[in-house]
Amino acid sequence: MPHSGTSAPGSLAFALPYEGSHIVVFYDRVQKSDPSLVTRLLAYTLVHEVTHILEGITRHSKRGIMKAHWDGEDRFEIGLGRLDFAPEDIDLIYRGVDARVLAMAAPPIRGPVAAR
Ligand SMILES: [Zn+2]
Repeated sequence: MPHSGTSAPGSLAFALPYEGSHIVVFYDRVQKSDPSLVTRLLAYTLVHEVTHILEGITRHSKRGIMKAHWDGEDRFEIGLGRLDFAPEDIDLIYRGVDARVLAMAAPPIRGPVAAR
């Protein structure tokens, strides 16, 4: 398990979108980042990282939940529960979910069959 003291300096969390199923949240950093906003900041951090998994990419947006670093205005919106997704992220979520569904429906790749 990554330790918050050495992993992803300055980040509250990270996702492994190309691996497809794991995120790591540094709860101690979330707590220290803004003690008055811990619950909402944790929720938004989880949404941000899960969205990386759903989109299947590490890309960030210029605004909204998928912004790389939330500034004071973003944190104000988080406090009000109003920070939302940029329109392109909604599209990327749908595309990512569609790609997962197609991958799950594809027939398994079989290796060479031994001669009988
Ligand atoms: Zn991110």
